[in-house]
Amino acid sequence: MKVPLLDLTAQYSALRDDIRAAIDRVCDAQAFILGSEVQAFERRVADYCGVSHAIGVSSGTDALLLALMALDVGPGDAVITTPYTFFATAGVVARLGATVVFSDIDPQTYNLSPDLLKQCLERIAAEHPELKPRVLLPVHLFGQCAEMDALIELAADHGLEVVEDAAQAIGAQYPSARGKRKAGAMGDLGCFSFFPSKNLGAFGDAGMVVTDRDELAEKCRILRVHGSAPKYYHAVVGGNFRLDALQAAVLGVKLEHLDTWHAARRARAARYDAAFAGSPITSPRSAYAGSEAAYCHIYNQYVVRIPERDAAIESLRSHDIGTAIYYPVPLHLQECFSFLGYRAGAFPESERAAQETLALPVYPELTDEMQDYVIEVLRSLV
Ligand SMILES: *Cc1c(COP(=O)(O)O)cnc(C)c1O
Repeated sequence: MKVPLLDLTAQYSALRDDIRAAIDRVCDAQAFILGSEVQAFERRVADYCGVSHAIGVSSGTDALLLALMALDVGPGDAVITTPYTFFATAGVVARLGATVVFSDIDPQTYNLSPDLLKQCLERIAAEHPELKPRVLLPVHLFGQCAEMDALIELAADHGLEVVEDAAQAIGAQYPSARGKRKAGAMGDLGCFSFFPSKNLGAFGDAGMVVTDRDELAEKCRILRVHGSAPKYYHAVVGGNFRLDALQAAVLGVKLEHLDTWHAARRARAARYDAAFAGSPITSPRSAYAGSEAAYCHIYNQYVVRIPERDAAIESLRSHDIGTAIYYPVPLHLQECFSFLGYRAGAFPESERAAQETLALPVYPELTDEMQDYVIEVLRSLV
């Protein structure tokens, strides 16, 4: 049996007619850049997340870049984030000439550890007076929110703004002490990616910035069109970060189904959890399960720790089962960040996660039969 890590054709065949109708609508209107399609989708995402503003952009990476630009992040500023994430989280910081400061993860959730972050902030104050800590950039890795209450409190204590990298987590909920909140809606700005493999995936690149702060929303809208306001007058330098109407139309069809897909992924995850209980395979920890939040984890990826990880990957591949490592090299050890001066051993939990984890198929259309096959092969290895 062949089991891919993700099968987007299964999703498309179920939605084909609706998506083609939405694409036709854009083709008939011949209005491709921003416009009413994009505005309607922005409104729906804002409502879905429970925020006042959503600004459609060209990718998740551009959402992060734009959010940091809206906060005027630049040289001399420190942005604190996790080294165990997709490259873009830190890449945008470096592109703005600001300094990335990494802080290690909690080994069970793979998200920023509030305790270690506290130590990190104290270390910056003591050892790097030349850096001005400006932004905390937590990532909701694999679709589960970081411990936002503790992180936001630390950020407030240190005068940091909070930008959430919610690229993998649209619709994930967090049981905050102030009530349940959606990913992206807790910080000053939240960033989503609609890269095709995310739970809400476009037919190409697309992203979104969300915020409750009116002045930041306005700044994002201006920076999205080269800093132009009014047209052809530029008080600031922005970029072309616009969302295409075609992508908004496709995403608008898919948004209807998002919560159903989340629920199907959670059911797949629960089946894996049950199958691996008591085995040497460590399931991802669902940190807020049992809380009142309904979709704590949206399982963009189902990532396990497994002994002899590299041998397990070879075996899965030889059985035609899709798998991947998210991520094989933590960012502090990337060649392009060697100038930051971090060495191997600096972030032991991120380094261990990079060596011990792999992702398993968890998409909504995965059948019981396919999943049983994945489980059987894995259980035979440990
Ligand atoms: C996907 C992703 C991004 C970047 O999104 P793109 O749309 O691919 O530019 C950023 N951060 C994280 C954590 C991601 O998973």
